[in-house]
Amino acid sequence: MSSVVDNIRQIRESLLPGVELVAVSKFHPVEVLREAYGAGQRVFGESRVQELVRKEPLLPSDIEWHFIGHLQTNKVRLVVPSVSMIQSIDSERLLRLVDKESARIGKVTDVLLQLHVALEATKFGFSCEECERMVDAGVIETLHNVRICGVMGMATNTDNDEEIRKEFREIRRVFERLAAGCMDGKDYFRTVSMGMSDDYRIAMEEGSTMVRIGSSIFGAREY
Ligand SMILES: *Cc1c(COP(=O)(O)O)cnc(C)c1O
Repeated sequence: MSSVVDNIRQIRESLLPGVELVAVSKFHPVEVLREAYGAGQRVFGESRVQELVRKEPLLPSDIEWHFIGHLQTNKVRLVVPSVSMIQSIDSERLLRLVDKESARIGKVTDVLLQLHVALEATKFGFSCEECERMVDAGVIETLHNVRICGVMGMATNTDNDEEIRKEFREIRRVFERLAAGCMDGKDYFRTVSMGMSDDYRIAMEEGSTMVRIGSSIFGAREY
């Protein structure tokens, strides 16, 4: 059986230059996160608020915690103090709430806008049109405690590589449009978070700058 440390090493070697690795540690105990930390991993992704806030104080403080799951508005207050980035902003209402809560505690929170491009109806996110409309409407200029650092998305869970590729290309296209439009000149707008264990190679070929990998590092999750 391969170890967490070996898995991380192998994945790092397979990343294209400039691609950042988020180790998705949801459902895994802090002991295995410590192993990943020992291998130099500093960015961890969690998808449940209670789990994130439970683990965060048990691990070294130089870890960057990324929230990657659907964030219910009543959990915003709980999660904002613990995270360095929220990747899963999927509505204007949520964006405004994260801004408001960040202002309340005197913080600027990095966020990504989550795009829904997959065929499954269950995945959260803005449609590409909604996202561009919101940004074009000038909403972002009015928010001073969130920093929009890019976009995030998931592809359909399918064996059809061409479908996956098409969806990643769509996410990258929205990123490019925003980067050339309203986000022009904002040097922090540079993250395209796409690619998971089974599809990150395709995602990198289509312009991912951040991959979120769980099971290939930590093994299968027991829900
Ligand atoms: C669980 C999860 C991942 C990691 O998935 P793996 O297939 O285990 O690599 C990535 N992104 C999000 C949003 C997730 O919920």
